[in-house]
Amino acid sequence: VDHAGRLRRTRTALAERDLDALLVGPSPDLRWLVGYNAPPLERLTLLVVPADGEPSLVVPTLEAARAAASGAGDHAEIVTWDEHEDPVAIVEGRTRPATRLAVGDHLWATFLLQLQAALPDARWVRGSSVTGPLRARKAPEEIEALRAAGEAIDAVHARVPELLSAGRTEREVGRDIADLVNEGHDEMNFVIVASGPNGASPHHEARGRRISRGDTVVVDIGGTLDGYCSDSTRNYSIGGPTEDYVRLHEVLEVAQQAGVDVVAPGVPAETVDEACRRAIVAAGHGDHFIHRTGHGIGVEAHEEPYIVAGNRTELAPGMAFSVEPGIYVPDRYGARIEDIVVVTDDGVERLNHRPRELLEVGA
Ligand code: ZN
Ligand code: ZN
Ligand code: ZN
Repeated sequence: VDHAGRLRRTRTALAERDLDALLVGPSPDLRWLVGYNAPPLERLTLLVVPADGEPSLVVPTLEAARAAASGAGDHAEIVTWDEHEDPVAIVEGRTRPATRLAVGDHLWATFLLQLQAALPDARWVRGSSVTGPLRARKAPEEIEALRAAGEAIDAVHARVPELLSAGRTEREVGRDIADLVNEGHDEMNFVIVASGPNGASPHHEARGRRISRGDTVVVDIGGTLDGYCSDSTRNYSIGGPTEDYVRLHEVLEVAQQAGVDVVAPGVPAETVDEACRRAIVAAGHGDHFIHRTGHGIGVEAHEEPYIVAGNRTELAPGMAFSVEPGIYVPDRYGARIEDIVVVTDDGVERLNHRPRELLEVGA
């Protein structure tokens, strides 16, 4: 992994924006920058990346071995602090000048408040304003990792039909799916099993509802493999769908394809959202598509670029994001089709390949 290149590009971005340094706590940013997957704890761990100067990683002494084992020491000087010392003072000493600073989005408020007290003259901006655009464009090895994560989640969806049947609860099905996600990934991130009317809630948590014949079930799942995330949604019908659901699902298939079809370098992100939405509005379901069309994905499950009205960011080769239009009819049912796609030099590549049509499962 080219951590040195990432740090170099980060420092260039800091300088271009007149920022003195980026301060990053345990977070996907930290993992992306130096390869250290640190736990967020009450003891401060903080990477200081000056625009002009060498990075340092301030860590509690008891975690020095763990930090070193990550290889972070190849890219930043590891500076330890003992239990009786004040780590904020150490950071303050290594953050000069401190006029304009970027701070990682995931740093706990308790640390930011202490830093702000120690550096009263600094103005602060969000770290993602620096790292977001850099992380959005994936290197070839990152796309390879996303491709592998996509295959891993496709393999889980391939086995979902064996687990779905009338009489089982969402929770039972969800646990079985979670086991499969864990088998194929290093980590399970989430499992959404939303049956019948629960499908109308996009982030429904698997609960005690018993799946019954005639239900449709939205299954949205994701995990992390070799540091990169997967995320894919398919819809299943238990023993045959109603005619209106079949029509709704066809609209969604057309909408999802329309979104993927417009993806190319130079196209504004919001154009992908428009393309999906147009098909859904035309079918009379405009009010039932209640979220943006997608989100970037990489070391984090949701990151830039966001595929949403108003985001004029031009798509560029290497950007990876979800195209996941949904239709949610309150108290009745819902559906969402989600694939991860990556922008290529002249178009788009899908990273999920399971059939997108409504899958009928025997009751
Ligand atoms: Zn490295
Ligand atoms: Zn999803
Ligand atoms: Zn998603």
